[in-house]
Amino acid sequence: MVKMITKKEIKELKKIKGRARGITLKTDFKYIASQKKVKEVEKIIKKIDPEFDYNKIEDTKWYPLWWRMLSLLVIKDVFGWEDKDIIEMGRQAPKNSFIVKIILKYFVSIEKTLKEGSKYFSKHYYPGVFEPLEYNKKDKYVRYRLKNFESDPIICVYFLGYFETVGKLGNQGKPTTVTEIKCASKGNKYHEFMTKWK
Ligand SMILES: [Zn+2]
Repeated sequence: MVKMITKKEIKELKKIKGRARGITLKTDFKYIASQKKVKEVEKIIKKIDPEFDYNKIEDTKWYPLWWRMLSLLVIKDVFGWEDKDIIEMGRQAPKNSFIVKIILKYFVSIEKTLKEGSKYFSKHYYPGVFEPLEYNKKDKYVRYRLKNFESDPIICVYFLGYFETVGKLGNQGKPTTVTEIKCASKGNKYHEFMTKWK
């Protein structure tokens, strides 16, 4: 039996304040578009919010941030996925983004990638901000925070994969591993992530 999002969870999601750019929702949709179950995802989402229709989303328009969480949660439910599958979804997303590829072409180092992160994040989310914290060349890691970013934990799981790929692309293709050290969904004031490499 596949778990389905409850009314209580939906009520909580709707409390999330903020906006996400349409491209983030379209990226979710693209990832599952070739699957039969995509219709089921659309049906469930429409039932929860009739305004939310992947096919009418425009890349550069702003939409409620909670839709992004809803999108990931319903996809996870319908496909019966685990966290590792959501991480994989996050990993693939930057690879399919034309903009990310263009930008990362000019990111010659992970240090530069980290610095540019704020600009890039703000293009996709509001009012959340990406704050670079530490670049440790010797011990090979970077730390960064997401502030004012209200969320459901699902998106943090997604970001683990997303930041892994961005880190790798910005690290001249060398693999990175990402961990979330602090999470605003778990009582902290912000989300804090660490990307390590060898
Ligand atoms: Zn988090």
